Amino acid sequence: MDARLAARRLLVNGIVQGVGFRPFVYQLALRHGLKGEVANTSEGVLIDIEGAPERLDAFEAELVSRTPPLARITEVRATEREPRGAAGFRIVESRRGASMETLIPPDVAVCEDCLAELFDPRDRRFRYPFINCTNCGPRYTIIEDIPYDRPKTSMRDFAMCPACRAEYEHPADRRFHAQPNACPACGPRLALHNAAGDPVAAADPVAAAAALLREGAILAVKGLGGFHLAVDAFDPEAVARLRARKRREEKPLAVMSPDLAAVRTYAFVTEEEARLLSAPERPIVLLRKRPAGPLAAGVAPRNRWVGVLLPYTPLHHLLLAEGFPALVMTSGNLSEEPIAAGNEEALARLSGIADAFLLHDRGIVRRCDDSVVRRVAGKTRVVRRARGYVPRPVFLARRLPPLLAVGAELKNTVCLVKGDRAFLSPHIGDLENLATYEAFCETIAHLERILDIRPEILACDLHPDYLSTRWAEEQRGLLLRRVQHHHAHVAACMAEHGLTGPVIGIACDGTGYGPDGTVWGGEVLAADAARFERLAHFACVPMPGGAAAIREPWRMAVSHLQAAYGSGFSRLDLPVLSETGEERVRVAAAMAAGGVNAPLTSSLGRLFDAVAAILGLRRRVAFEGQAAMELEMEAAEGVEEAYDTEWEEGEPRRILPAPLVRAVVEDLLRGRPAAEISARFHNGLVRLFVRLCRRIREERGLARVVLSGGVFQNARLLEGLLRGLAAAGFAVYSHEQVPANDGGIALGQALVAASRN
Ligand code: ZN
Ligand code: ZN
Ligand code: FE
Repeated sequence: MDARLAARRLLVNGIVQGVGFRPFVYQLALRHGLKGEVANTSEGVLIDIEGAPERLDAFEAELVSRTPPLARITEVRATEREPRGAAGFRIVESRRGASMETLIPPDVAVCEDCLAELFDPRDRRFRYPFINCTNCGPRYTIIEDIPYDRPKTSMRDFAMCPACRAEYEHPADRRFHAQPNACPACGPRLALHNAAGDPVAAADPVAAAAALLREGAILAVKGLGGFHLAVDAFDPEAVARLRARKRREEKPLAVMSPDLAAVRTYAFVTEEEARLLSAPERPIVLLRKRPAGPLAAGVAPRNRWVGVLLPYTPLHHLLLAEGFPALVMTSGNLSEEPIAAGNEEALARLSGIADAFLLHDRGIVRRCDDSVVRRVAGKTRVVRRARGYVPRPVFLARRLPPLLAVGAELKNTVCLVKGDRAFLSPHIGDLENLATYEAFCETIAHLERILDIRPEILACDLHPDYLSTRWAEEQRGLLLRRVQHHHAHVAACMAEHGLTGPVIGIACDGTGYGPDGTVWGGEVLAADAARFERLAHFACVPMPGGAAAIREPWRMAVSHLQAAYGSGFSRLDLPVLSETGEERVRVAAAMAAGGVNAPLTSSLGRLFDAVAAILGLRRRVAFEGQAAMELEMEAAEGVEEAYDTEWEEGEPRRILPAPLVRAVVEDLLRGRPAAEISARFHNGLVRLFVRLCRRIREERGLARVVLSGGVFQNARLLEGLLRGLAAAGFAVYSHEQVPANDGGIALGQALVAASRN
C-alpha cells in the first residue's frame, strides 16, 4: 500500500443530524480527494477517511470552519487508523447504537433558496406550501424518536415520488436526506374547512382563505408547532371580534408582516432587531410601536410595544403575499390553554372562535409556541423560549448526572440534563388546567425519548401544591430534590453563564414558596450551586384575599398604604381608594390587619402592583405582571432623581417598602406626574440594590451579582441595575438564553439538584 496513505476516524457531535451535514462531509471529502464513508450513528456522525496525511488535516480543519448554516459542532474526536484502501466515498444508512449523543435540530424558517423556488412559476414546487430542504423546515415538531430518519417522523405516511426520491438520494442535492422532503405530487396538502369543520372546495385554498381574511374573518391556520388564529391586523372590528371570541381581553396579540418594510410602517426597528426578526429562529420580537400607526388599537391596547414576527413557513409567505401588510397571528387556544396542534383537536377547540380553518395533513408530533425575544441593554433577552430554539441545549460548565427538573407552575418549562447539556423544553404554559398538565406529561415523555435520557435525579419546587411538584412526588425510583424557587432563579442565571458561585443573587418576582411559610419575591441571596443564604428581603406585607390580590392590585395598594400610614391611610385623598369604594377598602384593610386570608409576602412584583394602583394606572389586571408592565412603560426618560430607601439591619436584613410608598403618595398628592413618580421609583430601587450589594461586598467579599426573576423583564430596572452595579465595580450577570421569569427556572432547579449531596 502507498506509504503516504493515512486513515483517520472522526466522531462528530453537536447538531449534526438533519441539517445537511452528511452531504457536506461527502462533498468536502470529494474536494480533498479522500476516500471512506460517513454515517449517522447514535453516538454522533462517524467519518472514516483515508488519503494523503496533509489532506486529512485540511479536511478536518474545514469540517469545523465551513459547517452548514444549521449545524453546530460541539466536539470532534479523532483517532488514527490503518488505511483499508477504500474505493470511493459513500454515505451509509443510519445505524442505532448504545447511547445517543447527537442533537436534534430546532424548527427553522424556510431558507432563501426554497423561497426563490416557491415563487418561481417554472419550479415544480411553485406555490407549494411544504417546500423545504436540508437547510430549512420542520424538525423538532415532526420527530417522534431517534435516530432522525423519515420513518421516525410524521412524514412517514408520505411516500416520496421518483423526483423527490432522486433529490433525497443524490449526495450533491440540496435535499439529500432532507427527511421532510416533499412536492405537490407526493407530499402533504392544504385544505380549507368552514366554521363547522366541513371541507370547502377551493382550487387554491390559500387564495380562498385570503379572501375570507379580507372580509374580516377569523382564520385558524395550521403552522409548524400548532395553530394560529389570524385576522387582518389593520381591521379594528376583526381584532375586536377575535378578542371577544378568544376571551383574551387585553393581552397583546402578535403580528406577522411580509417583510421589514411593512413592519416599519407601524413599529420602530433597530438594526439588531431587524437581524433578530430575520434570523432562522424567527422569534416574535418586541418592538416599539409607532404612535398613530396603522395597526388596530386592539392589537396591543395601552401598550408602547408590539410583538412582531416575519413569516417562517412557506404557507405564511404565500398567505402574506396575498396583500396583507400585517396579520394578527396569535396562538390557537383559549386563554391559558396550550396551543392546539392536531386537526381534530383544533376543529373541536377552536370551533366557535374561527370562521374557517386552513388545515394540512402533515402531523405535528409536538406542539411548540412561537418564541418571544426582546433587546435590552445591548443584548437579546429570551422572554418565551420555544420554536426555533428548542431543543438546542444550554451548555453547562461541567457534566451533571442525568436529571429531570420539572419547573414551577406559571410559564412552566421542564429541563432534561445529560452530561454538560441542559435541554429546556418549549414553553408549556400555566399548569393550572388539565390540558396544560397533559401537555406537561407528554413533553417530558417525548423529550426523554428523542434525547435518550433516563433521569436519575428529579428536581421540583418547594411548593407542595404545584402540579409539577405533585407529579414529581408520584414518580418512583428517582432521587427527588426540592429546590427553593428563588435559589432556582439565581442558579438558572448562573448555569447560563457557567458560574458555580458564590454570588450575590437578586431574585425578584411575583410569587415563590418560602420555607418560612411566607410568599417570597423580593430576595437578596448569597448563593452557590448547592446552597443559599437569605441576606435581605423586602419586609413582608399581607396580601388581602390571597390570590385575589394578584388579580386586583388595588388590594396590594391598600395593604402597602396601611403598612406605610397605619389605619389612618383611608383618609388619604387617593383615586385608588375612592374608585375602589369605601366598603371594599375597609374589608381588605381588615383582612390585612387581622391576618385573615392574607398571606404575608416579600414580593417586589406585588410592590410594583401596589404602586401602579396608587398611581391610578390599573386597579385590576387581565394577566400576571400587567400592572407592573404599565408602571414601567409609564416611567419618564431622563429623570435622575430617586426615592430614598431604607433597610433594617438584621439577619436577614429587611428592606422597608414604606418610605418608598410614602414618597410615591406625597409626590402624587403634590400633583407630580405619574411618569416622573414611576421614574423616581425605579431609580430608587436601583440605588437601593447597588447600596445593598456594596455593603454585602464589604462584609463577604462577594463581587459577582446575578439578576433573576420575572421582575427583571422590566427593562428600565434591568438597565439601571446593570449600569449601576457595573459602575460600582461588580461583575453583573443577567439572563439571555433563557427567560428571567419562571420559564427559566427548571434550568436552575437542575443545577441545584445536581450540586447538592
Ligand atoms: Zn430550504
Ligand atoms: Zn415528490
Ligand atoms: Fe418566579
